[in-house]
Amino acid sequence: MRSYEKSKAAFTEAVDLMPGGVNSPVRAFKSVNLDPIFMDSGKGAVIKDIDGNEYIDYVLSWGPLILGHAHPDVVSAIQDQAAKGASFGAPTVSENKLAKLVMDRLPSMEMIRFVSSGTEATMSALRLARGFTGRDKILKFEGSYHGHGDSLLIKAGSGVATLGLPDSPGVPADIAKNTLTVAYNDLESAKLVFEKFGAELAAVILEPVAGNMGVVPPQPGFLEGLRKLTEENGTVLIFDEVMTGFRVDFGCAQEYYGITPDLTCLGKVIGGGLPVGAFGGKREIMEKIAPAGPIYQAGTLSGNPLAMTAGYETLSRLNKDSYEYFRKLGDQLEEGFRAAATKYNIPHTVNRAGSMIGFFFTNEDVIDFESAKSSDLELFAEYFKLMAEEGIFLPPSQFEGLFISTAHTEEQIAKTVQAFHNVFEKLAR
Ligand code: PMP
Repeated sequence: MRSYEKSKAAFTEAVDLMPGGVNSPVRAFKSVNLDPIFMDSGKGAVIKDIDGNEYIDYVLSWGPLILGHAHPDVVSAIQDQAAKGASFGAPTVSENKLAKLVMDRLPSMEMIRFVSSGTEATMSALRLARGFTGRDKILKFEGSYHGHGDSLLIKAGSGVATLGLPDSPGVPADIAKNTLTVAYNDLESAKLVFEKFGAELAAVILEPVAGNMGVVPPQPGFLEGLRKLTEENGTVLIFDEVMTGFRVDFGCAQEYYGITPDLTCLGKVIGGGLPVGAFGGKREIMEKIAPAGPIYQAGTLSGNPLAMTAGYETLSRLNKDSYEYFRKLGDQLEEGFRAAATKYNIPHTVNRAGSMIGFFFTNEDVIDFESAKSSDLELFAEYFKLMAEEGIFLPPSQFEGLFISTAHTEEQIAKTVQAFHNVFEKLAR
């Protein structure tokens, strides 16, 4: 058995200092009935906790570290920038550099604005859509998470789903009433919403692959149908690619599925592990943002040079081959999981998109939040714990996906597959 004594001591101290002992809820490991593990360092695909236990990491800081931990080129670029200054509150060329790189890969992004988190990106994109259309209502999908902005904490996924708090106290009813929701992949219900409220809908916001109820790809026709409905009704289509951006494909999910949104939100990968978000899209919409236009949005650390540098160094090291590599490792991991689960008679369903993978402990097809919830959560909690014992660090919630980095190796995937076998053998007993 591994020892977690130092993590336990750190957590005992932390619970007095921070609510729940953490600065973001999913880190508290509540749904797997454990105390959190405190991390010390990472290199490539391997992380080490403060007790000295090592793990192959499939969390990757919840997605950003697509090159793995502490990539030498990213580290040295951050060091060089830090020596020149961390922040100026005045423009730097690093912003232009990352903007051009992102926009080069995403033709739908004619202009961009950088912020410091995914939450800020979605909140700002919604304000922009509302200001641009002069409408208040939005449509989102159950079990999708778009950060913790008031309008978006309605039937949300990720940590709020994990903790069973999809509608948070503190969101004013007057705001919540403008957020309409239907099930993910349910185009017929979306059509009904448009029939009734089409002329009042400022935006439809969605994850083009849902990643916050586990991984749930769009069914054929879903994205196309939403594109058509929004176009017909003068509604802004917002792809929240905070998670899928540069993960699902070189040109993000929108290239992979061939659908062009009006606005896109980004975060995670484009900051290479530093705090970043961005939103952008059609020039005629983006030009409404201050100071070009009247819709206000701002940030002391927006476009921060350290974050811009980490993002640029990360993105410029990805190419089409990276995504082939993810597919290869993803195949190996998926096949290994399926074979082990089948051998030990563990109910399972696997969903995948690029370097995002969702393993569910159910035999149902998982196409929305309801079907995701058919997963055996007790089994998941045991699986999480035993996998950690085997040196495999997974997201501590059934409603989150796994991520692969370019630093993962076939040997590490093979080791993970062996761990599936060891763990499922124990769970089958
Ligand atoms: N949108 C999506 C799709 C996300 O997955 C997340 C975070 N997991 C966010 C928005 C919020 O990003 P942040 O945590 O950086 O505020």
